[in-house]
Amino acid sequence: MNSPLIKIDDKHLPLYRIVWVSDVPHFCGEDDCLHEGDYEVRLDIDDSIWANREDRDHVVAALGQWFGDPTSEDDRPEWT
Ligand SMILES: [Zn+2]
Repeated sequence: MNSPLIKIDDKHLPLYRIVWVSDVPHFCGEDDCLHEGDYEVRLDIDDSIWANREDRDHVVAALGQWFGDPTSEDDRPEWT
């Protein structure tokens, strides 16, 4: 995948807008929570979108590719 755009839910967004991606499913205990079990994808403005696990994994893989990271998760770049 060479495009810097990624589709999450029904939205296409550029990878450079993503600040972080949750490693664990959301849980806040609220009865009316709409995102329990979803994975939060934080955007650079004060906003987030929500992904299911499959989309989350896709986002993480795409970000890794975009940063030129090797496929191995154990070989993450150092953020000095
Ligand atoms: Zn919640």
